[in-house]
Amino acid sequence: MSGFTGADSWLVVARDGAALLTDSRYTQQAGFECRHCGVTTRKGTLRDACIKHLKSHGLRIVGFEADSIAYAQWRKLENDAIEWRPTSGMIENMRLIKDAGEIKSIRRAATVAEKCFQSIREWISPGMTERQVANKIEFELRRLGAQSSSFETIVLFGERSSLPHGRPGQRSLGPGEPVLIDWGARLDLYNSDLTRMLLPSTIGSKLKRIYRAVLVAQQAAIDAARPGMTGRELDAVARNHLTRARLGNRFGHGLGHGVGMEIHEAPVVGHTNDARLRPGMVFTIEPGVYIPGWGGIRIEDMVQLTRTGRRILTALPKKLEEVCVL
Ligand code: ZN
Ligand code: ZN
Repeated sequence: MSGFTGADSWLVVARDGAALLTDSRYTQQAGFECRHCGVTTRKGTLRDACIKHLKSHGLRIVGFEADSIAYAQWRKLENDAIEWRPTSGMIENMRLIKDAGEIKSIRRAATVAEKCFQSIREWISPGMTERQVANKIEFELRRLGAQSSSFETIVLFGERSSLPHGRPGQRSLGPGEPVLIDWGARLDLYNSDLTRMLLPSTIGSKLKRIYRAVLVAQQAAIDAARPGMTGRELDAVARNHLTRARLGNRFGHGLGHGVGMEIHEAPVVGHTNDARLRPGMVFTIEPGVYIPGWGGIRIEDMVQLTRTGRRILTALPKKLEEVCVL
């Protein structure tokens, strides 16, 4: 809301303006970053500074972000002079529809992520560990201009690719093993999120069949995405394809999620969301099939809904013959 990137600070928004309550470690930084709100440097605790600020501005009924506050912190805030009212999703809903500047930032973050991936196939080689590959990807992202990766890069080899959100470990890449890479770049406060598989050129028939099924499901959902559909309906497009391929029960998570200032934000593109998708929303489409002990396949791209359809924000190659490079 404020543009502030530091920690230990709260933003108080009132009818006559907003104020960031911070401490001296961040006073200068807040001055640069928060161009649309006042900055108050507190000396005592955040809680005391907040109560004092509210009282001095005559603010008695105050909404707070109930999803973002710990119970212990809430207990300290309770105060006779203030009537606290829990709110949920107020800020998140404001972020649902991206404006042109935000889309531009997201596209830049996606471009950095894509550039990074293009080099991977040149240096990835048998014997490297998941950790080594993930570290190199994160270094490359920064070298290409990212502030950081959007989340801890996922690199999984062989049967470990059946862990949808597995953490890279010391497992080294054997010959002929599939590789799952899920990564993104964070840039100008915005994120990107993609997943690609790198497969062996001597690919077996089961892997080939499942990869194709996931790709068809993903492409069908991308083609179908348009405003007016619900998250549930779009999820069903991909799910029905995988169910027909007798893989529906291996697709455990939702189809996708919004991406913006957070790597996972609204909208949910899954069976729990009956709200209609609207132009300006940016989200991922990432069906996956996971078979414990064998491996997993996920393909993830980002789309932006337009007035009449969707614009694809990520365009790395994903046809079977284009990913069989190991
Ligand atoms: Zn991802
Ligand atoms: Zn994702």
